[in-house]
Amino acid sequence: MRSGHGRRTEPTDDERIPASVDTALAHGALARPGLASPASVAALQRTVGNRAVQRIVSANPPMIGRAVSHKEVNEDELPIQLKRDPAARPALQRFPDEGGTGALLRMAIQRAVDPTFPVNRPAPVRSNSDASTTQVKAQQFGGKVKKDDAKRAYVFELESYTSNGEIQIVYYTNDHYPAPTPEDDSGALSNVNSGNWKAVADDLHSERTGIADDWSAYRAEVLHEDYHWNTEWVNTLTPEFRKAEAKLAKLKVPYKKGLFGKKERTQAEGESAVKEKAAKIMGDMAKTAKKKYFKLGDSPGDPPYIAQAPAVDALENRVRTHAKDQGWEGA
Ligand SMILES: [Zn+2]
Repeated sequence: MRSGHGRRTEPTDDERIPASVDTALAHGALARPGLASPASVAALQRTVGNRAVQRIVSANPPMIGRAVSHKEVNEDELPIQLKRDPAARPALQRFPDEGGTGALLRMAIQRAVDPTFPVNRPAPVRSNSDASTTQVKAQQFGGKVKKDDAKRAYVFELESYTSNGEIQIVYYTNDHYPAPTPEDDSGALSNVNSGNWKAVADDLHSERTGIADDWSAYRAEVLHEDYHWNTEWVNTLTPEFRKAEAKLAKLKVPYKKGLFGKKERTQAEGESAVKEKAAKIMGDMAKTAKKKYFKLGDSPGDPPYIAQAPAVDALENRVRTHAKDQGWEGA
């Protein structure tokens, strides 16, 4: 292992969930004697905030190389919000009051909403100590409050759901890639020679589903982070979203209010009550999904690491084939 080369150290599950920072600190104190006492850490936490404390804790004592989780939560994220309807109508739409037929009609016109998962990808950067990260950013839902005369209630019609993300790819420095340019392992194998080709190929092979040692594949980084987002997050959020969707469909705030239902809600009251309940359902859903997502394993041999293997294998094969073509000793 050459000096200065990065290893990614995966934090515990607890460390990945900001809400559980106290638990993470307790674990850390047990695992690393000499760490600040829980009380002093709690004081520090109040002063500088959870995120900073997590950084301090994970950096103390100094670890070798990459010490950051691949999966990060955006802690500045606002609570989930209902998108403002730019074309807000002066009067609420009504579902037709047609008794049983109306109910069937309502079911028919309720279209399924599929969540979307746009992901922002800033330009890759280089570091042998920082890891690539996948962040769950803001989530929003869109929809309308409607009057349902059959139910005598204000109801909510969901129209959209967006879960934003950001993937920051962090590559190692050039000298860790057999084919340093371009950043997709397709370039000339200029870092490989007759003397090191076997070490390069063997090193790639030994960490194909783990943390890169001396040598790495660019595409492995992308496949790993894409797996966090496209597979783990999408597949964790979607079923929770479906459950929340079902709850939203049952959500209603009666026209009448009060113990004996003698007073009628104003439209504004009905609308804000529905929106508040809808936001609670969606907020709880997002929290549950995040908890499940951060519990998924992200250590060598876990699915995100297995997902990167094809890129490593392809590069290893390239190196071995190249050595043969060159007639290098041992090839
Ligand atoms: Zn990861």
